[in-house]
Amino acid sequence: MFSLHGIGVSAGIVVARARLLGSGEQVDVPHYHIAAAETEAEVARLEDAMRLVRQEMRDVAAQLPDDAPPESRALLEVHAMLLDDPALTGEAAKAIRLSLWCAEWAVSTQAAELGMQFEAIEDPYLRERGRDVRQVADRVLRTLAGMPSANAAGDEPAVIVASDIAPADMLQLRHALGFVIDQGGVTSHTAILARGMNVPAIVGAGRASEFIRDDDLLILDGHQGVVIVAPDEAMLGEYRNLQAREALDRQRLLRLVHVPCISLDGERIELQANIETPGEAREALAAGAQGIGLFRSEFLFLNRSRLPDEEEQYQAYRDAIEAMAPRPVTIRTLDVGADKALGGFQDAHPTPNPALGLRAIRFCLAEPQMFITQLRAILRASAHGRARLLIPMLAHGFEVDQTIEHIEQAKAQLRQQGLQYDEAIPVGGMVEIPAAAICAAAFARQLDFLSIGTNDLIQYTLAIDRADHQVAALFNPFHPAVLRLIQQTIRGAQQHGKPVAVCGEMAGDPKAAQVLLAMGLRQFSMHPAHLLRVKQSLLRADSTSLQARLARVLVLEDFDRLPEFLEQLEA
Ligand code: PEP
Ligand code: MG
Repeated sequence: MFSLHGIGVSAGIVVARARLLGSGEQVDVPHYHIAAAETEAEVARLEDAMRLVRQEMRDVAAQLPDDAPPESRALLEVHAMLLDDPALTGEAAKAIRLSLWCAEWAVSTQAAELGMQFEAIEDPYLRERGRDVRQVADRVLRTLAGMPSANAAGDEPAVIVASDIAPADMLQLRHALGFVIDQGGVTSHTAILARGMNVPAIVGAGRASEFIRDDDLLILDGHQGVVIVAPDEAMLGEYRNLQAREALDRQRLLRLVHVPCISLDGERIELQANIETPGEAREALAAGAQGIGLFRSEFLFLNRSRLPDEEEQYQAYRDAIEAMAPRPVTIRTLDVGADKALGGFQDAHPTPNPALGLRAIRFCLAEPQMFITQLRAILRASAHGRARLLIPMLAHGFEVDQTIEHIEQAKAQLRQQGLQYDEAIPVGGMVEIPAAAICAAAFARQLDFLSIGTNDLIQYTLAIDRADHQVAALFNPFHPAVLRLIQQTIRGAQQHGKPVAVCGEMAGDPKAAQVLLAMGLRQFSMHPAHLLRVKQSLLRADSTSLQARLARVLVLEDFDRLPEFLEQLEA
């Protein structure tokens, strides 16, 4: 028995046999010169291989089942786009013509170079794209060598162990009970897909694919990011108990799906879900969400070379709205910048400090054409149900005024064209910057509702980069300054009789949800996976007594009493 560690990217526990994916063996890359007269034939050989790979991807896309993770199509599109990218194909053809390299040599060299360029990028998301380039090149090389693609894993349910898995291969592994992958990080496509498939997964597992053999019995613990190989009976017993408890717990929570969320003292609470793609509305409904409190629209824009046009956006928003009807869907306008970079499009606005730069609403107001396109798409979708518009990263009152001017402009265009939209679509703002929290009452007067983005509010209040693991321990949602700002925002909204929600990660934490309830919050929006646990916590809470106890400890002169209060909540 031994254990291997990695990063747990998709929770849960599974006990099953290992199935090693046949991608481990590297493709041998031939390096030889061709005769000058053969260049065009060699370029044609490369293009044929690329065409075959493209067709293979199209076949995978066509065979995707309805319940495939919503990101699947987008991932296949990224890989297909890389095949069309002149930086890969054009440069490889150039190397064949100018250096007289064989096709394999040319494409592998170009892919390595591109991959290195990606890896030099600080942004972890973009850095991961270097792996996409290598995965695409690997498929082309296999095709040139006449080798099959790398998914010879058989059909029986097993934990898939691999050095790396290309998204297209991953999509053919729908029988997988879990994944152990040597490479990758939390934002890798593999991690995203594993989360979408709802199976335990660890990435960054070092040399797991060398140490684990086919048919080894594994305990894969996605919570802890650990895989135990050939466990003994005692360990198996321990994990089987844990698994049984998890299953029982999930079963119990499911009974709460249709239970209205009312606290012990009779306060009615609204629980909504956060989604990144329209397909996730299904998960939100299954968890009993009363609406979508945050649709992070930027996920339609990331990971691609062309921006989505009005029609594509309209369809996506409409899909979510129709899936949730008659419940409301809150669509946040493009929140790019900082950790969510928009590829080439943002290059026009280089910034020394992305978290404090031209992000979210600032970026949209600087790109009015792009903004109007999105507003038109949201407005058109609003004709199909209950849509709400949410503006990210507000700091200044004039940002609201300017956004409303843009909305009016988009409405006027639609009217002129005779296109339908909801004239009374509510417009809300995100409180994510301390300045907005301090001035919450003024924003509440201007807007129809507020939504507190605690992820950024904590980042900006405590000056802690939310993506930097070196300061992660200082990222404290319960810092008194953070709690005071949240409280001030809730009061500001109440002062003007406007609804206020929390849609940051705090809303999805059972303990934090009780603190928010004590502060007067009645609307919570979170990842669907957290919804029932939060409901369970709020059903057991007495808001009146919590409020009185919190008021006694949330005095600025006496911070020390806060941790004790929080500990009691956990008990
Ligand atoms: C937040 O900042 O809390 C929030 C919900 O927005 P995002 O996490 O998308 O920045
Ligand atoms: Mg935010």
